[in-house]
Amino acid sequence: MNMQVKAYAAQSGDTPLLLSAVERREPGPKDVAIDILFCGVCHSDLHTARGEWPGIQYPCVPGHEIVGRVTAVGGKVSKVSVGDLVGVGCMVDSCRTCHSCEDGLEQYCEYEHGFTGTYNGFAFGGGPNTFGGYSAAIVVDEHFTLKITHAEKDLAAVAPLLCAGITTWSPLRHHNVGPGSKVGIVGIGGLGHMGVKLAHALGAHVVAFTTSPSKREEALKLGADEVVVSKNADEMAAHAGSFDYILNTVSAPHDLDAFTMLLKRDGALTVVGVPATPHPSPNVGILIMGRKSIGGSVIGGIAETQEMLDFCAEHGIVADVEMIAMHDIEAAYARMLKSDIKYRFVIDMETLKAA
Ligand code: NAP
Ligand code: ZN
Ligand code: ZN
Repeated sequence: MNMQVKAYAAQSGDTPLLLSAVERREPGPKDVAIDILFCGVCHSDLHTARGEWPGIQYPCVPGHEIVGRVTAVGGKVSKVSVGDLVGVGCMVDSCRTCHSCEDGLEQYCEYEHGFTGTYNGFAFGGGPNTFGGYSAAIVVDEHFTLKITHAEKDLAAVAPLLCAGITTWSPLRHHNVGPGSKVGIVGIGGLGHMGVKLAHALGAHVVAFTTSPSKREEALKLGADEVVVSKNADEMAAHAGSFDYILNTVSAPHDLDAFTMLLKRDGALTVVGVPATPHPSPNVGILIMGRKSIGGSVIGGIAETQEMLDFCAEHGIVADVEMIAMHDIEAAYARMLKSDIKYRFVIDMETLKAA
């Protein structure tokens, strides 16, 4: 029998999220039912809840940095057991048969609708809109669950690894970041602070780019070797032509030339931020005169997400988080828009269950 669970939902792009309820399916043979303990607050939740991206269906329940405990499993589940701590990230399904899915890159599923997002996703078989982690419980195919081996006391700070962690890990790995590479991380928010920690742990020389002078000292503590306040032209010019790779996580439109200028010959800039309106068109001259490239990247596959979680557990890496109650979500969004969070809000789901 389907189950009604408490959730926080946006009913439109210009009204606040409010307490509501969503239906979760009865677990099928390959399904895992999860009691959600914590859920991180990604800027994508804000873009979606506010209707900043096309194709958003309401009611909308955001949340794709989910950690919780398994409460039931279907008869054919072998990956996890009742009582295990598990994570769910940005995907809950994909076609499983296309080249990308076969390569373990479900995030690039070539099926006409792509992968099924944890929220606002097209459900395979024509089911309803998917509802995310701002809810008391979720039911997910075992393939899209991740095993958590961090200590249980760190669970809230593990939640952001499920999106912010993998979204930075995947491009850093794809571009072979490691000892000997000079890497820039632009935008020290939820994604960016994980990018700094991960690039540092991979052995790179890391430069953090921020518009917030107040993050200068702390970015060093996160693992940056140098910090540049990107509004300062002299500080920027000192790094011209010196980077192997730059990962740009900024959530708002801005001038990309300022960063392509800093790449070495054959260097690459990856953008992962998805602003509501486009960046100004980049200057191709800067790219041509140095065989530089600008690319994109979306989250990461399930296998590489597990690899990242295991790497983080081994290296003692978690996110820097500020806990909030579910009913404080609107205030949290307002602070995120001012870049006033170091560095990720995480919702304590007990506060929803008690609502
Ligand atoms: P966030 O925590 O709000 O951080 C964004 C950071 O960007 C801010 O902390 C700020 O850093 C910088 N920033 C904000 N406005 C700026 C502006 N006008 N000019 C320059 N810098 C600015 O957001 P997030 O959760 O990390 O997400 C970042 C973006 O990635 C969002 O667009 C989100 O939707 C997207 N995203 C993409 C993927 C993917 O798979 N591609 C996955 C998750 C999220 P400083 O204070 O250091 O300047
Ligand atoms: Zn996200
Ligand atoms: Zn596929």
